[in-house]
Amino acid sequence: MYIDPHVHMVSRTTDDYQRMALAGCVAVTEPAFWAGYDRSSPAGFFDYFRQLTDFEPKRAAQYGIRHHTWLCINPKEAEDPVFAKEVISLIPQFLKCETVLGIGEIGLNKNSRNELEILDAHLALAAEHDLLVLVHTPHLEDKLKGTRLIMDAIKNHSKLDPGRVLIDHIEEHTVRPVLERGFWAGMTLYPDTKCTPQRAVDIFEMHGTERLWINSAGDWGNSDPLAVPKAQIEMKARGHTLDSVRKVSFDNPLKFLSQSGRFRIA
Ligand SMILES: [Zn+2]
Repeated sequence: MYIDPHVHMVSRTTDDYQRMALAGCVAVTEPAFWAGYDRSSPAGFFDYFRQLTDFEPKRAAQYGIRHHTWLCINPKEAEDPVFAKEVISLIPQFLKCETVLGIGEIGLNKNSRNELEILDAHLALAAEHDLLVLVHTPHLEDKLKGTRLIMDAIKNHSKLDPGRVLIDHIEEHTVRPVLERGFWAGMTLYPDTKCTPQRAVDIFEMHGTERLWINSAGDWGNSDPLAVPKAQIEMKARGHTLDSVRKVSFDNPLKFLSQSGRFRIA
């Protein structure tokens, strides 16, 4: 059994749901993100939020997988603060939906001033409604700086408990500062860019398994919705116990997500 706590199923086919179910997936959580193109109006996000809260859970249920979601405007489309704030104003009406776990994936893309302003608006919304937060961190040369900026922005909201915030896309150089400040940390497993299953297992071997999870972040690009079971195989091949395999791929996501009071497995 495993949970994939970060996967963009709107961009995947029903064959992917079937393969994930066969590999033992019982639940997924899907953060709102860039759709591969910039949406032309806030109404485009309204329809996307309907897809995430209404249609996608039904599609997943056909394969015995529970689908949950996180809502936001992603940092890639948050360069226009007026547009972004209009999208944020659409979110509260979806919060009554039982499968919405929190705000995500928010964060930074290019570490710009406008992105920071919109990150802060999302954090205020999460604090106001006592929601969990799922954070996207920038890539490559922007990652370490962006991760620090995000952690500082969260600290400015005293109502937000770091134990209810997961910082995703962590790598070798960002895992320590994230865990040391009390946050949860996620590793995104990609076939070649970002963290591979092998690198993720190296990170477990160096930093332990407390407050860490793994996910596929499967999307419309070169990604792998079976990345979590592949990391499970890598752990077993290296002699890790079944308990530690289960901890990172099931127990830890269950523990973090259950803080929402809404997370269910099939
Ligand atoms: Zn994502």
